[in-house]
Amino acid sequence: MKKFVSISLSLMVLLSLLGVSNVKVSAQTHVTDISSSDPLAVKVNYLISKGIITGYPDGTFRPDNKVTRREAAVVLGKTFSLNGTKRKTSFKDVRSSDYASGYIQSAYEKGFLNGYGDGTYRPDHYMTRSEMSYLLAKAFNFSATKNYYFIDVNPFAHYYRVINKLANNGITVGYTDDTFRPTRKVTRGEFAIFTARALNSSFRVIKDQPSPETRIVKADWLNVRKGPSTSYSSTGGLEDGSRVNYYFKTGDWAFVKGAGYEGFVHTAYLGMPLSIINGKVITLDPGHGHTDPGAIANGLVEKEVVLSVSKKLRAYLENAGAKVVMTRTDDSRYPSLSERVWIAENSNSDTFISVHANKHSSEDAHGTETYYNYYSPNGSDARKLAEYIQNRLYKAIDTSNRGVKHGNFQVIRDNYVPGVLVELGFISNPEDAKKLASDVYREKAAKAIYLGILDYYKYK
Ligand SMILES: [Zn+2]
Repeated sequence: MKKFVSISLSLMVLLSLLGVSNVKVSAQTHVTDISSSDPLAVKVNYLISKGIITGYPDGTFRPDNKVTRREAAVVLGKTFSLNGTKRKTSFKDVRSSDYASGYIQSAYEKGFLNGYGDGTYRPDHYMTRSEMSYLLAKAFNFSATKNYYFIDVNPFAHYYRVINKLANNGITVGYTDDTFRPTRKVTRGEFAIFTARALNSSFRVIKDQPSPETRIVKADWLNVRKGPSTSYSSTGGLEDGSRVNYYFKTGDWAFVKGAGYEGFVHTAYLGMPLSIINGKVITLDPGHGHTDPGAIANGLVEKEVVLSVSKKLRAYLENAGAKVVMTRTDDSRYPSLSERVWIAENSNSDTFISVHANKHSSEDAHGTETYYNYYSPNGSDARKLAEYIQNRLYKAIDTSNRGVKHGNFQVIRDNYVPGVLVELGFISNPEDAKKLASDVYREKAAKAIYLGILDYYKYK
């Protein structure tokens, strides 16, 4: 008797929460246990207003309660207005008298859900987040064009495909620790969020998927496996020096793609991430030289200052894997302006940086500015490059910001390579000159230009 009471009570609660019983429950327009400022509230209210879900008779929604497979089928059935008439089902454990039999059978016939291999549906089992993903991906016929990754969703797992479809369609971004927790039981709150997003695009979200890092294999032979441990089978091997794209890490294992393979490799055998400018060719042009000293003031000679800064900049760029071409490395000769352009173009450079320092008849003139040329063949890229460099440079050396300007200089005007001309500061201004004389500030300037170049390549 006692057992019977508890069963019928739980059935009552179930029936009323799903709003499918003959026990009349007034639809709760506002549930009492979700604050109106909670982003969940608007989604729950949306689904209630569409008659897809209801709260409990006491006015609560209980968002942390789990969802049974029976309840999930009913929500789906209502979402798609499936035939909910109780009837015989294809599952041996769902009787026709089950209040959800109609929805379960209709959803099954539509191909939205599957049972288990033994012919059961297990309606009282709680639904996992991966099962829910399968259900929604099927029911909403989601497709995927891009690969999104969660650190606990193995791309070789059967549920990867459906979870990826949800991510592609703005239904999930996972948790803040980059997990999706596929085996966790889905809660009523989560199920409401996912269903609302699936139904209404204004609720959808965009998952951040950073571009992969490039890494080099540092082992004679590195096994690529189907999961993050040596117990998974190998799909192949990578040779020493192979270059791979590194997508995510779980424990000591990284999911990588490269050399025709994809899978998990142990991170101990991968080198450090390669910089975004690895392999880029960059021409550095220290202004003036030899017979042309450039500006002279306050004990400084421009050709020396800019050569010193350029050499420091070269070191930053080469450390990051860039190939640096210099228009001059010493003061032994003066390359003409057209020769400087030729060097950049002939080396197939990606960018061209000319380094200068300024002079004015008034010693009051001061500050940093960066030039590009509107009319140069790649003027818009050049402008971006100038903006990124200028934005880093004046802050790093604490000079006034004279901004990014169009300038009619031959080395950036007649150049197919996107180029800029940087004026570090005014040699003729005592304060700027003090910085330009200082090795510490030259280092800061070089690093800032380097970081600006990185910013530019990230933007590209
Ligand atoms: Zn100059």
